[in-house]
Amino acid sequence: MKIYNTLTRKIEEFIPHNKDRVNMYTCGPTVYHYAHIGNLRSYIMEDVLEKTLMYNGYNVNRVMNITDVGHLSSDSDTGDDKMVSSAKKQNKTVLDIAKFYTEAFFSDLKKLNVKKPETIEPATNLIPEYINLIEKLLSKDFAYISGGNVYFDTSKLDDYYVLTNHKEDEMVVGVRDGVENDYNKRNQADFVLWFTKSKFDDQELKWNSPWGLGYPGWHIECSCISMKHCGEYLDIHCGGVDNIFPHHTNEIAQSEAYLGHKWCNYWVHCEHLNDKNGKMSKSKGDFLTVSLLEEKGYNPLSYRLLCLQSHYRKQLVFTYENLDNAEQAYKKLKQKTLSLKAGSNINTELFESYNEKFKACINDDMNTSSAITVLYDVLKDDVLNDGTKKALIESFDKVLSLDLLTEEQNDVSDDLAKYVEEQIKLRIEAKKSKDFETADKIRNDLLEKGVELKDTREGTLWNKIK
Ligand code: AMP
Ligand code: ZN
Repeated sequence: MKIYNTLTRKIEEFIPHNKDRVNMYTCGPTVYHYAHIGNLRSYIMEDVLEKTLMYNGYNVNRVMNITDVGHLSSDSDTGDDKMVSSAKKQNKTVLDIAKFYTEAFFSDLKKLNVKKPETIEPATNLIPEYINLIEKLLSKDFAYISGGNVYFDTSKLDDYYVLTNHKEDEMVVGVRDGVENDYNKRNQADFVLWFTKSKFDDQELKWNSPWGLGYPGWHIECSCISMKHCGEYLDIHCGGVDNIFPHHTNEIAQSEAYLGHKWCNYWVHCEHLNDKNGKMSKSKGDFLTVSLLEEKGYNPLSYRLLCLQSHYRKQLVFTYENLDNAEQAYKKLKQKTLSLKAGSNINTELFESYNEKFKACINDDMNTSSAITVLYDVLKDDVLNDGTKKALIESFDKVLSLDLLTEEQNDVSDDLAKYVEEQIKLRIEAKKSKDFETADKIRNDLLEKGVELKDTREGTLWNKIK
């Protein structure tokens, strides 16, 4: 199995420390708002990675944090705590906000068939562990106290920028429009391990510490949670590309300073989902959630398919046109997979040959779009009997997780699909000969049967109304 490693900037063979227990850590959401479908692209990629590992026979110990404290509005330790601002706006407590959006997050994951990691740890659960780690960093002289806060001293490392390969002056930390510089730092790249009341008086959740009443920085939580559940040697650490710097860079700095050895071998990052304004984010542009897509009549799994059709290391631009196409493709795919007849014997030789092709795709740095091409090849292959096709699809769906063999109430029968496609052709002909009355009648008749037509640049798409 090969995977692109951000740390070495190469596609590498995956070799875990221990085959029987692959330790995989993924940065969880900051639960001050709903996850947007950009965040969820990263979680879909991580799900495919975990399932690819399982497809290769590995046992995966997957851990995820829930950020409910310490993530400030700038990733570089300035601005308000995102949780506190959201709680203030909604007139609720931080813990109420965290509970609400954590549940919403897991409900979104379920709709997208993203497997819930076995271990989920809210950041507020491990305060004593953060304090221990920070004390050790202070005793090893990797940290210092200044202005009431505890900072990590990046100048003590040989290569702080190991993950980014960037020159120091290109990666300015702590300066952003409207956000003041932190003059307590010895070096611009230093980051906060522990904040005290001297700096942020309005923080709702605070804990006693050797440095006063305060709260942890965002980065320390991921190092500690990972070490608690995955031990000192982590195999894979994941996140979106925006996590590479400063978050993951800082995680490496403090973890390796604490451990005194290399911490994680493979760093896997998902490129962004963009909208017309650039990176989809919680603070600007259209805020697209799974629920919103559902309200508009889309099946969340069409969004999963859209993500799988592109490579996770390429930026993906979200448009409704792309989603319409994915929805149409998903429906057609399911019409085909659900019409396969059960019963015929499985041809093991052909099964193995297609399975190997599928595995080669997912093992090639998670090339999911090629894996989907193999799926279409299976469906098209006249030599394969339905039993073998079904067995292959069941197997592929362990990774793709598109519910390809699960019948749902909204799935349309083959007969209805055929009928709708014929009616669409007739309507196109009617429109060509300017017989708009017939064209409208076809549209209205279909609507009465619960089928809605949508004219797009790619042709007429249709939708079964729920
Ligand atoms: P957050 O809730 O902001 O902590 O982010 C949760 C996850 O979503 C992190 O792994 C981010 O890197 C990732 N992420 C944020 N924005 C996007 C985006 N537009 N596309 C893909 N992943 C994203
Ligand atoms: Zn993290």
